[in-house]
Amino acid sequence: MPSALVAELQRICGQDNVFWRPDDLIVFEYDAGFDRQPPSAVVVPATAEEVAGVVRAAKAASVPVVARGAGTGLSGGTVACAGALVVSTNRLDRIIRIDPQARAALVEPGVVNLELSRAARQHRLFFAPDPASQRASSIGGNIGTNAGGPHALRYGSVVNHVLGVEMVLADGTVASFGGRAPELPGYDCVPFIVGSEGTLGIVTKAWVRLLPLPEDVRTFTALFPDIDAGARAATAIIATGIVPAAMEMLDRVTIEAVNAAFDVHLPPEAGSLLLVEVEGLREECEDAADAIGSLCREHGAFDVRMARSQAERDLLWKARKMGYPALARIKPNNYLHDAVVPRSKVPAVLREVNAIAARYGLITANMFHIGDGNLHPILLFDAREEKIERVMEASAEILKVAIDAGGALSGEHGIGLEKNHFMFWVYAPEDLEAMQRGRDAFDPERVMNPGKVFPGGAQCAAIPTERIKRGLAEGMWI
Ligand SMILES: Cc1cc2nc3c(=O)[nH]c(=O)nc-3n(C[C@H](O)[C@H](O)[C@H](O)COP(=O)(O)OP(=O)(O)OC[C@H]3O[C@@H](n4cnc5c(N)ncnc54)[C@H](O)[C@@H]3O)c2cc1C
Repeated sequence: MPSALVAELQRICGQDNVFWRPDDLIVFEYDAGFDRQPPSAVVVPATAEEVAGVVRAAKAASVPVVARGAGTGLSGGTVACAGALVVSTNRLDRIIRIDPQARAALVEPGVVNLELSRAARQHRLFFAPDPASQRASSIGGNIGTNAGGPHALRYGSVVNHVLGVEMVLADGTVASFGGRAPELPGYDCVPFIVGSEGTLGIVTKAWVRLLPLPEDVRTFTALFPDIDAGARAATAIIATGIVPAAMEMLDRVTIEAVNAAFDVHLPPEAGSLLLVEVEGLREECEDAADAIGSLCREHGAFDVRMARSQAERDLLWKARKMGYPALARIKPNNYLHDAVVPRSKVPAVLREVNAIAARYGLITANMFHIGDGNLHPILLFDAREEKIERVMEASAEILKVAIDAGGALSGEHGIGLEKNHFMFWVYAPEDLEAMQRGRDAFDPERVMNPGKVFPGGAQCAAIPTERIKRGLAEGMWI
C-alpha cells in the first residue's frame, strides 16, 4: 500500500481507523468460506462522506476497493484480490430511524441483522430476512449477497425488503436509488444493486421494509425414519396450499451431532427431522396446524411435537440453529454448499450427494431449507489429513449434480470467488456480457470488488484455491 494513500486515509478517517501492518491484516484475509488473501490495507470509515473520500483517494492511487460487513460470507465475497483496499462498515452501525407508519427503517450498512429486528419489535414490527448468521451478519452484507434464511420461504430474500439505498460509486459520487416509498418512477435499480456483492459500489444507507409481527406462530418438529419420508411430507404440506413461514430439514448425521453436543434428546433412530413453522392469523394457524400434524403422520412421522410456548419454540429451533456448530465435533473443517434444486428432486439429489461424498471418503451432513429446495450439503473433513483439492473436486461434482437436476448455483450465499468460474455452466457468454455492461454503468473501470461474480478474471489468480476451482470448472464443462 503506497504510504501516501495510507496517510490520506488516516487524514479522512483518523489514525486509529486505518490498518496496514501485516499482523493487523490477518483477520481480514478471509470470510467464513475457503479462500484467503491479505488486503493491502483496511479502513474503517464512520460516515458516508468518509466512505466517499476513501473511494476517491483509492481511485486517485489506482487501488481497487472491497466492501466488508461482518465477514460471515461463505463465498469469499470480501476476500481482497488485486491488492485491494478493504472498506469495513463496522462503524456505520446506526439505526437512523424507524418509521412505524411507513413500516420502514433507515439504517446504516454495519447494523447487525438481529439488532434491527430487536429495535423494530418495540413497534410490533420485524425485519423478515433472517439468515442463520443473523446474530453477526450486517445489513450491508445481507444486501450485498441478497441473503435468505429459514423464513425466506414465506417472505422472500432480502431483495423483497429493500426499498432504497444510498451508495458510494466507484468515482466517489454518493447516489441514491429508490427511497422510503415503494415503486418510485424511473428505472428501479434497487433489485440490481441487491445481490451485486459489492461490485457496483458501497451501500452507505438503506431504507428497509418492516413487517407487522404475526398474530400467531406455530412451530412443529416431526421425526421420520429417513430423508425420503420427510421430503414427501414436506411436498404434501406445500401441495395443500399452506405456505409455511419456514420448513427446514436435518439428516441423520446432523441429528446425531446435535444430540451429542447439546441437550435436545432427539430419538436416535430418527433419519430426518422436519421443522415447520406457520404464522399469521390465529384461525389460519389453527387450520394449518391440524393439516401439518396429520400429513406428517400420514407420511410416516413417528414423533410430531408442537411448541406450546416461546420457550418450547426456542427449544425446537435449537436443534436447527445449533446444527452447524455441532458438526465441529465430527471434523474440524467443513465446506458448506448452497445449491438449489426443484423441491421434488431433493431426495434424489441428496442420494447422489451422499454417493459422491462416500466415493471421496468424506462425511456429509445435510441441514437445509427444504421448503424452497435450497440444499446445504456440508462436507466434513480434517484439513490436516485431507487434501483440499479432493474436497473441491467433490464439491464441483455436487454442484454439477444440482445443475443437472435443473437447479441454480447459489440459493443465498452469493457467487463471490467460490463459484465465479462455474457461472459458465449456467450462463451463455452473451448473458454474462450483458450483465458486465450493467455493471459498467456503475463502475466502468471495474475497480469495485474485482475478480468476483464473473468468471475468467485473472485478478484473484494468486489465490491457490481459486486456481483449483478454475481448473475444475473448465475440466468438468457441462
Ligand atoms: C453459520 C453461518 C450461517 C449462515 N446462514 C446463512 C443463511 O441462512 N442465509 C444466507 O443467506 N446466508 C447465510 N450465511 C452467509 C452470510 O452470513 C450471509 O451471506 C450474510 O449476508 C453476509 O453478511 P456479512 O455482513 O457478513 O457480509 P460480508 O461477508 O462482509 O460481505 C458479503 C458480501 O457483501 C458485500 N458487502 C458487504 N457490505 C457491503 C456494503 N455496505 N455495500 C455493498 N456491498 C457490501 C461484500 O463485498 C461481499 O461481497 C451464513 C454464514 C454462516 C457463517
